[in-house]
Amino acid sequence: MRVGVVGGGIVGLAVGAELLSRGADVTVYDPAPDGTDGAWHVAAGMLAPGGESVFEFPQLERLLDASNELWPEFAGALGDVGYDAAGTLGVALTADDVTEMAREWKHQKLTPLTGSQLRELSPALSPRIRAGAYSPTERQVDPRRVVSSLRRVLDGHLLRRHISDLSQVDADAVVVAAGCGTAELTGLPIRPVKGQVLRLRGEPGLLTHVIDGAADGRHVYLVPRADGEVVVGATQEERTDRKPTAGGVHDLLRAALDLVPGLAEHELAEVTVGHRPGTPDNAPIIGHFTGNVYVAAGHHRNGVLLTPITARLVADLVLTGTTDSIVDDFTPGRFGCA
Ligand SMILES: Cc1cc2nc3c(=O)[nH]c(=O)nc-3n(C[C@H](O)[C@H](O)[C@H](O)COP(=O)(O)OP(=O)(O)OC[C@H]3O[C@@H](n4cnc5c(N)ncnc54)[C@H](O)[C@@H]3O)c2cc1C
Repeated sequence: MRVGVVGGGIVGLAVGAELLSRGADVTVYDPAPDGTDGAWHVAAGMLAPGGESVFEFPQLERLLDASNELWPEFAGALGDVGYDAAGTLGVALTADDVTEMAREWKHQKLTPLTGSQLRELSPALSPRIRAGAYSPTERQVDPRRVVSSLRRVLDGHLLRRHISDLSQVDADAVVVAAGCGTAELTGLPIRPVKGQVLRLRGEPGLLTHVIDGAADGRHVYLVPRADGEVVVGATQEERTDRKPTAGGVHDLLRAALDLVPGLAEHELAEVTVGHRPGTPDNAPIIGHFTGNVYVAAGHHRNGVLLTPITARLVADLVLTGTTDSIVDDFTPGRFGCA
């Protein structure tokens, strides 16, 4: 079967690689198949299925958990992509921060930890931190390395082309996985949600876990890589521009340094802006769209986490016409556009 995948971001590449491994004749279309335009290039790569966004949406929580379980095998097949299973420390600076973060920890059934217990696990944490919790199942991966590996798998199958109309794709089946670009191609309600992210660089080893915290009402996460880079994210703004702002950078740095004062000596190496492909219910759109067209888009804050399961579900659908019922609540049809 000849399959055209529109969009060579993390989702499109993973779908393409899965289809290729099952014998399909795959072409992935992207205006910059070796570029850095997608949200994946900005994303921190937290694999965090338990965030607040799922409190009211158990089907989404199930999908996130299922994809999280696929990550060790998915990463293993791609080589060293920075998959790190050390887990996440949730931390809160003030009493108000504790009240807010505790809802999340309670939902995830995590055991609360005191400030000194947290510092035993991660000595770089500020002595001002009041409380926290350890989540062993919230891990991380480096999305840039994942994309590099997937591009290698798809070598010879990537075509430099912007698709402006799906009729330009000559294939038996078409998968639209164009992130925010999916709206223009399908009319599906996907909107860009701006996020600013910083990359700090210093000596490796300051942090050993992902830190997901609140400091005086400012939310921040710190994702330490083995080479000493620490990714600091992220703002969430209903804007379409690509400008980093003084306020955004200030809020991220202030919260990061409040939680881990030792980061002050790190180099501020990168400030990047990306757009999460958001949907009205903050859940992805995965499934048959119309005719020979399928959609794998709208992954919003969790596109990296959801990559392995999306690839598997879409490949099933395209090649066999059916897949696991876990996807039933995420079809394009729920927005009445198909
Ligand atoms: C600030 C920020 C932080 C994030 N942190 C995390 C995180 O920690 N964990 C997590 O799981 N997720 C995170 N995400 C979300 C994640 O990055 C996205 O959900 C994910 O990248 C979506 O993947 P995608 O392939 O659908 O889209 P993208 O990664 O955006 O890729 C889309 C691709 O489609 C191509 N394209 C677009 N239009 C067309 C067209 N017409 N024709 C051909 N090609 C086209 C683009 O060039 C691009 O290469 C974050 C996102 C942001 C912005």
